[in-house]
Amino acid sequence: MNNICQNIQKIKESIPEYVTLVAVSKTKPVSDIQTAYDCGQRHFGENKVQELTEKQSQLPKDIKWHMIGHLQRNKVKYIAGFVYLIHGVDNLKLLKEIDKQARKHDKELNILLQIKIAREETKFGMNDALLAEIMQSYEQGNFPNVKILGLMGMATNTSDKQQVANEFTTLHRLYETYRTQFPEFQYLSMGMSGDYPIAIENGSNLIRVGSAIFGARDYK
Ligand SMILES: *Cc1c(COP(=O)(O)O)cnc(C)c1O
Repeated sequence: MNNICQNIQKIKESIPEYVTLVAVSKTKPVSDIQTAYDCGQRHFGENKVQELTEKQSQLPKDIKWHMIGHLQRNKVKYIAGFVYLIHGVDNLKLLKEIDKQARKHDKELNILLQIKIAREETKFGMNDALLAEIMQSYEQGNFPNVKILGLMGMATNTSDKQQVANEFTTLHRLYETYRTQFPEFQYLSMGMSGDYPIAIENGSNLIRVGSAIFGARDYK
């Protein structure tokens, strides 16, 4: 058994069954994804549209593809036909475009709203006020071809575990608050290779794990 398969099995054994494991395959070759697929992995995540569409066209059609990166409005059309879940929606214009492209395909598109929980300035995400505004608009039926399935967030990249836990807890509370009102809420996407155990302890039910499965990424 090779490493990728072992890594997936070890992570699966260490997490509760209700947690969805998304294998983040960005920068990794199609052959690595096929290896993971052959071990039973079905949820994969990519953060670039072109890479995602190229890989999707070469791999089995029952893969559930997650767009986890920052998505530009003019690129929604390239993934609308097949993407399973778009994680990083953090503004109204993008949401409207997703709704429009979904309508063109005569389907509904699943999305998560990205909330800013980290203290770092570089992380994307909306604040509570915009979230409230969007959820109200959604409830009024303004995005009929979009299904908001939950929230996504990234914690600060720090060795301070208490801070990371606090950030995840904040997002979990927000998620639970909206879940009482929106029964379709089912995903709270938080946790990556470095912090997924803390994320699960603090309410995550979907983790996005790359390097702990496929090894370190080489960006050169
Ligand atoms: C790359 C990436 C991940 C996975 O990161 P690892 O540290 O390799 O597990 C998770 N989420 C997002 C949004 C990413 O861009």
